[in-house]
Amino acid sequence: MKALTFKSIRQIEYTDVPDPVIIDPGDMIVRTTCTAVCGSDMHVYHGRETGIDTGTVMGHEFTGEVVETGSDVKRFSPGDHVVSPFTTNCGECYFCRIGLTARCDKGQLFGWVENGKGLQGAQAEYVRIPLADSTAVHIPDGIEVRHALLAGDILSTGYFCAEMAAVKKGKSYAVVGCGPVGLLAVLSASALGADTVYAIDRIGYRLEIAEKLGGIPVMLDDTLKEKVNELTGGVGFEAVMEAVGSPDAQKLAYRIVRPGGIISTVGVHTAGSFSFSPVDAYDKNITYRIGRCSARHYMDIVIPKIKGWSRELDLVITHRMGLDQGEEAYRMFDRKLDNCLKILLTP
Ligand code: NAD
Ligand code: ZN
Repeated sequence: MKALTFKSIRQIEYTDVPDPVIIDPGDMIVRTTCTAVCGSDMHVYHGRETGIDTGTVMGHEFTGEVVETGSDVKRFSPGDHVVSPFTTNCGECYFCRIGLTARCDKGQLFGWVENGKGLQGAQAEYVRIPLADSTAVHIPDGIEVRHALLAGDILSTGYFCAEMAAVKKGKSYAVVGCGPVGLLAVLSASALGADTVYAIDRIGYRLEIAEKLGGIPVMLDDTLKEKVNELTGGVGFEAVMEAVGSPDAQKLAYRIVRPGGIISTVGVHTAGSFSFSPVDAYDKNITYRIGRCSARHYMDIVIPKIKGWSRELDLVITHRMGLDQGEEAYRMFDRKLDNCLKILLTP
């Protein structure tokens, strides 16, 4: 089959790889109906996350049509249309039972193969889904495939970010970073009742979309500190949702959160240490929350909301390309060309 594989830093290759096969009885194989490029793919693309084997199939966001099921799979049959979270989960271990599916004892991340071990990704014609019964979700009737795809990662992650920020009515919040994930945090925070969600980025077209999603755009420039003082009466934001994953963004979140406030981080961090010190944290009484989204858990919460959000979700999906244009899609996503946000790829 054809797939996008990791060749080396900044080099993704559209090439032939072996078709996936059933390995364990709980596996199923799907024919990919839609896949996408994510900010998380960029950490690998830039070489900030290392360890992935050359030739690994990239990608972790996908929908598919079931073509084959292992003998233990009970909930799915060939022909079913499904969406998968970006990690697999068993549904039975301690972490799955408390909703922390991202930390499942048996969990694997799609698109991560290291020293020959791991799980191939979803930017391919076919994908193997291990632990299929507890991982995949049927796409409900009436929901567009492109919207369902977002539930498997960025919509769940945006929602998780707003939830970790403990968003309440009547308070002011900020989202740092208005990429697809940050924008869906803006949408989620507004839906959870935040009065005011300030959306911070340095890219104008992204701020325009943030405004359409209910945010108040704030350009990141040298005057940001003064702007935040003005907006919050010198107090700082109740909580700051950080959807970037860089030391600068982390430092900014620290600077603009109010004493006693929450920093909710979904940006994937690759630095070896914090950009603010334990003393800084102590001196501001902050609560810092961070982590991988338990997408399987949040899918049950966000999928029922999708129909009501179809206009908003379409603002975040800016490009649809063929899988064979994947190398160009990575380049566009990386350089934010042609006002792109989410780029969907169809095999
Ligand atoms: P993206 O690169 O499109 O978005 C990042 C945005 O942040 C860009 O618009 C950029 O201009 C802006 N930005 C950069 N530096 C900034 C700064 N200092 N202050 C304010 N804005 C700044 O990527 P995305 O797809 O939206 O993903 C965002 C992050 O979320 C990535 O780190 C990705 O890995 C992560 N992610 C995490 C999870 C999770 O489970 N925690 C899931 C999905 C994605
Ligand atoms: Zn992703």
